[in-house]
Amino acid sequence: MIVILKKNAEPQQVELFTNWLHNMGLETHMSVGENHTIVGLVGDTSRVDIESILALDIVEMVRRIQEPYKNANRKFHEEDTVITLCSGAKIGGGHFLVMAGPCSVETEEQIISVAQSVKAAGAQALRGGAFKPRTSPYAFQGLHEEGIRLLLEAKKVTGLPIVTEIMDAQHLPLFEDIDVIQVGARNMQNFELLKQLGKLHKPVLLKRGLCNTLQELLMSAEYIMAGGNSQVILCERGIRTFETATRNTMDLSVIPVLHQLSHLPVVVDPSHATGRYELVPPMALGAAACGADGLMIEVHNDPEHALCDGPQSLRPEKFADMMEKVRAIRPYADRSFTTSQDAGSSL
Ligand code: PEP
Ligand code: MN
Repeated sequence: MIVILKKNAEPQQVELFTNWLHNMGLETHMSVGENHTIVGLVGDTSRVDIESILALDIVEMVRRIQEPYKNANRKFHEEDTVITLCSGAKIGGGHFLVMAGPCSVETEEQIISVAQSVKAAGAQALRGGAFKPRTSPYAFQGLHEEGIRLLLEAKKVTGLPIVTEIMDAQHLPLFEDIDVIQVGARNMQNFELLKQLGKLHKPVLLKRGLCNTLQELLMSAEYIMAGGNSQVILCERGIRTFETATRNTMDLSVIPVLHQLSHLPVVVDPSHATGRYELVPPMALGAAACGADGLMIEVHNDPEHALCDGPQSLRPEKFADMMEKVRAIRPYADRSFTTSQDAGSSL
């Protein structure tokens, strides 16, 4: 349920109102926007009498929210969420951020060389896997602690914030200095892991599962947000369909749909979505034009010898070329779909 307050609502009366709700066992989330102040109610709202709320002087409108996700819902929080990384780089609300780097951290030379080239091309965060979710137990599983250490070394050299995947909540102490914790597609519904990430105060990049709906993705974001961590970045990385020409199927319409449903930033990963390096630049451009808030791109200095995902990794020169085109297309990105055509109302 959301309660929209009148513009001139007295702060004292607002406090009395929210205290009254807390006494009923409800949590409240205030979102002060340009046009409205919205009080979002989380908990069992079935006993809340809408008429008695409407009777209050400070209240303009009350609405029940049908969707099961509340904190992640745009109805709770009209304006885009903007997340700021340690470097000052931002994502969301018109800020575009590219995270790039190898699928896996392999050696110090590799990660530092890739970090330097993606930074020079305009990436604002370095990605790299230290814990790898591989289909085969015989495939390279990542360098684990050593991989994290090398990522932090690359951060020291370049200043780029680090994005890396966690697979087990027990590894959290190793992630203390990591800037953005990635939850991979295979762990999107690892609810115990999501709950642990909800206790942190750092951004989480949540990838859509291979066979999950957008509502399920938003419910997973809700798990993190319900714990108090509102810094969630949604990531579309393609889903499994009957098509075999590409590794997964990338549906660009999820970008405007997610932006309508949620205020959280939306990133697109065309590397895992297509599985083929030559398809990455066109799909990245498509995502930028559709209003994505950022991209996650796999880049490797020697893709032929990469220990993981070489066929979908761009060489640094190709990445730099793609970045130039992305910059050129960004001013044309269409975000008009986030507002309703009905005059005067964006709710
Ligand atoms: C990755 O980013 O390297 C990765 C394993 O991605 P996903 O979880 O989307 O497969
Ligand atoms: Mn990969």
